[in-house]
Amino acid sequence: MGELFIVPTPIGNLADITYRAVAVLKSAELILAEDTRTSSKLLNHYEIKTPMQAYHMHNEHRKLDEVCSKLNAGMSIAIISDAGTPGISDPGFLLVRQALSLNIKVTCLPGPTALIPALVQSGLTSDRFIFEGFLPPKKGRNKRLQNIVNETRTLIFYESPHKLLKTLIQFSELFGADRTVAVSRELSKMFEETFRGKLSEAVDYFSAHPPKGEFVICVAGLQNK
Ligand code: SAM
Repeated sequence: MGELFIVPTPIGNLADITYRAVAVLKSAELILAEDTRTSSKLLNHYEIKTPMQAYHMHNEHRKLDEVCSKLNAGMSIAIISDAGTPGISDPGFLLVRQALSLNIKVTCLPGPTALIPALVQSGLTSDRFIFEGFLPPKKGRNKRLQNIVNETRTLIFYESPHKLLKTLIQFSELFGADRTVAVSRELSKMFEETFRGKLSEAVDYFSAHPPKGEFVICVAGLQNK
């Protein structure tokens, strides 16, 4: 029986990969990568010569049986995404579930993901939190928000730059303009910065400084300022 390794890769800074991740990627017989061109930069940098195949949201359903038969036949396979931990707002979950249902060993290495540094450096309560990932743009968005409007744990969201301001305006209306927020941008990269303040101040700030790059929003829970 083979083994499926979930391997986190850097979210911006190439140095943020573990020794173990490099070793696992080198010793695996196959790497499934969300985008083989993106990942080849990382693999070349660390002189990882393992064959790669594309595994992304458009082919993941189709590939499940094929990948699981390879694992069943004894192959050691690693899955990586463009950045961070596969399965966290990235493909990975379906394969983990199917592999486990077939009693295939699954191991996720600890490593980079954007939500944890954003939460920990936000200054908001980090002992209890919920991760909402990307909110749906339209259908189901209000329901998701209504479910968390009275949430007391710190709330974490992923957001794209072109939707950031609209989302902050909506959060300000929903959670209240005085609710504390931390917006982290470009974590681990050259232009990393974190805005901390009230939601109304975040709206003003990002109205004056058009958002660029990748963002994580951490909102204080209710009575959790
Ligand atoms: N699998 C990744 C993880 O473990 O964090 C997340 C992938 S998801 C497709 C991409 C989103 O993650 C971005 O839109 C942004 O919200 C967040 N993200 C990823 N890298 C980031 C970074 N360096 N700084 C801030 N946010 C980041």
